[in-house]
Order: sequence, then C-alpha cells, then structure tokens
Amino acid sequence: MTEHALPQTFEPSDTASAVEALKARFGEAASTGSSVLGLHRRDESHHAPFDPDIVVFPSSTEEVAEVLRIASRFRVPVTPWGTGSGLEGGAIPTRGGITLSMARLDRILEIRPDDMIARVEAGVRRKTLNRELRDTGLFFPVDPGADASLGGMASTGASGTNAVRYGVMRENVLGLTVVTAAGEIVKTGSLARKSSSGYDLTRLFVGSEGTLGVVTEVSLRLHPIADSVSALAGFETLEGAIATVIDIKRMGLSIGRVELLDLQTVHAINREHARGGPLALEPLPTLFFEFQHALGESDPSTEAIAEIVASHGGTPLRWMRGADAAQVIWDVRRDAMGWAERERPGSRSWSTDTCVPISALAESILGASADIAASSVPGYIIGHVGDGNFHCIFMMLPDEEDEVHAIAERIARRALQASGTATGEHGVGIGKREFLIEEHGLPAVTLMRTLKAALDPLDILNPGKVLPDLV
Ligand SMILES: Cc1cc2nc3c(=O)[nH]c(=O)nc-3n(C[C@H](O)[C@H](O)[C@H](O)COP(=O)(O)OP(=O)(O)OC[C@H]3O[C@@H](n4cnc5c(N)ncnc54)[C@H](O)[C@@H]3O)c2cc1C
Repeated sequence: MTEHALPQTFEPSDTASAVEALKARFGEAASTGSSVLGLHRRDESHHAPFDPDIVVFPSSTEEVAEVLRIASRFRVPVTPWGTGSGLEGGAIPTRGGITLSMARLDRILEIRPDDMIARVEAGVRRKTLNRELRDTGLFFPVDPGADASLGGMASTGASGTNAVRYGVMRENVLGLTVVTAAGEIVKTGSLARKSSSGYDLTRLFVGSEGTLGVVTEVSLRLHPIADSVSALAGFETLEGAIATVIDIKRMGLSIGRVELLDLQTVHAINREHARGGPLALEPLPTLFFEFQHALGESDPSTEAIAEIVASHGGTPLRWMRGADAAQVIWDVRRDAMGWAERERPGSRSWSTDTCVPISALAESILGASADIAASSVPGYIIGHVGDGNFHCIFMMLPDEEDEVHAIAERIARRALQASGTATGEHGVGIGKREFLIEEHGLPAVTLMRTLKAALDPLDILNPGKVLPDLV
C-alpha cells in the first residue's frame, strides 16, 4: 500500500475574512481580545504555545456547525478546546485560525438512572456530572485527575486510576453527536448497551483528538457507586510490587485502583510531610490499593492479599480505615507531582504515558528507572500498574528539553519493542506523532490518512496533530 497524500494544493486560507464573518455572526461569543487568545494558547503540556486568531464560544450543536461552515468556506484551521488540560499539545492551535471552545456547551441533557446512562453536552466537566449524580447512587468513573470536559475526554480516549476496574472512555461512551468539517451534524451509536449495527463510528471519533470531527454531545455509561476499602504497602523492589498486582488480579479480586509510586515519588511525599503534608510513608517503592469490597479483618481475601504482598517482599498492609483516611492517599496520589514540581522552581513537567502488556511492565519500568537515574533531570514514576500503564514525570528546566525528549523517546521505543503503545491515555497530539508509523505500521497509518482525507478533505480540523507530516 502506498501513502495517500492529503490534498496538497489548497486555496490559500483567508483568516481575516473568517474572523470578520465569525464576529458578525457571533458578536461577543467570538473574541480576538489578547487575554482570551492568551488563555487558549497552551494546554498543560510542555509544548510551545501558539495564539489562535479568534476564539469562538458556540452555545449549541447548530452553532458549532455554523462555525465549521465558515471555517470551510475560508479554509481556516479549527482547533477544538475542552478545558486545555491535555498533556500532548492537542488543543494548541499550532497553525492559528479558530479555537472552538466548548465552555458554553455545558448542559447535562438527560440522566436515566434505570438505564444507567447520562447524555451531556461536550463542555460538561466530569466533576460537575458526578455532583449531579450524587443522589442517584451512580457515578461516571473515568477520572483523568484533571477536571476535564467529557467531550475532551472522549476526544483523547482518556482514562486514569479507575480504568483497571471500569475501563477507559472507549468502553464508556455509548454514542456521540459530532459536527463534521463540512458542518454536517452526525449522530453515532445508540442508548442500547450493545449493538451490531453498521460501522462503529463512535469508536472512530473517540480518541481522534478533534482531527475528524467536533464532538458536541456524549452519551455515557454510568456505574453504581461500590463499597471500597483502601490500603498501601511498601516493597523491597519495584519488581515485587508489580508481581503483587499480577497475582492479586489473577486471584480474581476486584481491584478498583492500584497505583505504583517509585522511591523518588515516595521521597517527594515525605518531604511534603515534613512541610506539614498529609502522609508519611516508609522510604520504599509503594502500592496504593483500592479494593471494591468492604473487606473486613476476618475476610479470607484480606489474608490472601497480605500473603501475596509478603511473598513479594512487601511490608504488612496499612489499611486506610474509613472514607476520610482512604481519601488521604488518593489526594496524595493526585497532588504529589504538583509538590515535586514546586520543589524545582522554574520547572515544567513532561509526562510520558507508555502502556505495555503487564508481563513486560517490570522490565519497562526498570528501564525507565535506570534512564532517570542516569539523568540530571529529576524524574518520578507513577503507574496505573493494573493496566500496564505508567508515567515518568520529569521536572524540566527550559534548557533541559532536548535531554528529556531523548529519554522519553527511549522509554516509548522500549514500550513499542514490548508490543505496547507510546501513549496509553494522553493521546498523540503533537508529541507522539513521531511514533505513529513505528507503532501501527505504514499500511495502518495510510488508512488513517485516507479516513482523515475523506472526513476533512481541506485539512482544517486540528491540522498538524496525530498524523505525522508527509516527508
Ligand atoms: C494533572 C493532570 C493529570 C492528568 N492525568 C491524566 C490521566 O491520568 N489520564 C488521562 O487520560 N489524561 C490525564 N491528563 C490529561 C487530560 O486531563 C486529558 O487528556 C483530558 O481528556 C483532556 O480533556 P480536556 O477537556 O482538557 O481537553 P483539551 O485539553 O482541551 O483537548 C484535548 C484534545 O481533544 C480535542 N478536543 C477537546 N474537546 C473536543 C471536542 N468537543 N470535540 C473534538 N475534539 C475535542 C482538542 O482539540 C485536543 O486535541 C491529565 C492532565 C493533568 C493536567
């Protein structure tokens, strides 16, 4: 199969006319003010910022379609914007043009407790939905840490600490409303729990990072809130910690969350404790667990877990009794990297997010750990180990970017050699495009280009993201 090129001969973009048309149509909901442009020039990644020419705040799917029709007419790039919490530069408008903010598409359209389904507009944030669900006994479990928009989460194929139990966005999105580059409104999926009908367009758009269409509505699976209990244990070695997770999973015990913290992360938590922080840990690589059972002292599973932990060089389990105590460890897990970043003034974090088959996880993490040890840039490892997904987070000063890039590349290549992926959850954006052909092969990337050209022939939807440049 040869590589199909995207259209190479465009009419030139007419950004000035597009801006004029958008201002005339949307008034105050189309801004060229420098502070608004400045708020949409970078996401949470290390990637260089770039200003859009205009930011538009549509309030309905139909208004999104109007923006796209104007963008198509003047061939101007459109970069969708959820909350800008992305870590791969996906929402940075690297070619200028229109940033399409989803902030005003913020209505929860329907909650159907009996069907365990919610329908929301794309700009609704996950914490807002969960607050709204509080009295139903249900919740939406996908938790990327940041209070991201559900449209953004669908578009990056997000996951997080809960994925080992509840799956990722791909498993939890039942259907979408999407606006195409030409401004057509398309509904995908249904509210049925399963379907064998037609091509699976929902999963085509999930994870497409705004390059194939703009998501305006999302139908989501909800889950019952389950009783749980949290615990932690330190380990002599990283391998022991990982072997423990594998054995507990094999036992069939329902793990809600299991997170690995390397020794450097544990030191950062302990330094924060010395400054008044909430948790002190033994200076060992540590696992935080959440089990989805109300395990009591006399529960046979409790004993079995303790035995597995001990057999792999773990300390006795420290059970976090009660919801407040449990919350402490999950808050610490969320905040630890913020503390580490503050310890290095002027630094910005760069996070890798490779994912490998769990049998290759120990080797992958030990390799990354050796890379960190050989570098002068402080690096920390935190892993959603139940999924084989881990982050190396570097606290990087501006002149250290080349060094971190080289290490991140090594970590990604190691994952690819183990039949894993360069990105388990953050998406490709700008930063991971260099691995796409290596990961999927040229025929698959060529097919992706064909799909992109069919859905977005003018290449206006988030151009320069996901697919590598043609050489
Ligand atoms: C501290 C921290 C921890 C994080 N941890 C995790 C984690 O554990 N797991 C994880 O998965 N992610 C994590 N992230 C990354 C981030 O939260 C997710 O990628 C999230 O899904 C981005 O959502 P957003 O609404 O902020 O999207 P944005 O950052 O605004 O956009 C992300 C991409 O989606 C596109 N997009 C946004 N909205 C739409 C739409 N409606 N239609 C089409 N395209 C759209 C954008 O163009 C861009 O390409 C973390 C981020 C931070 C800051």
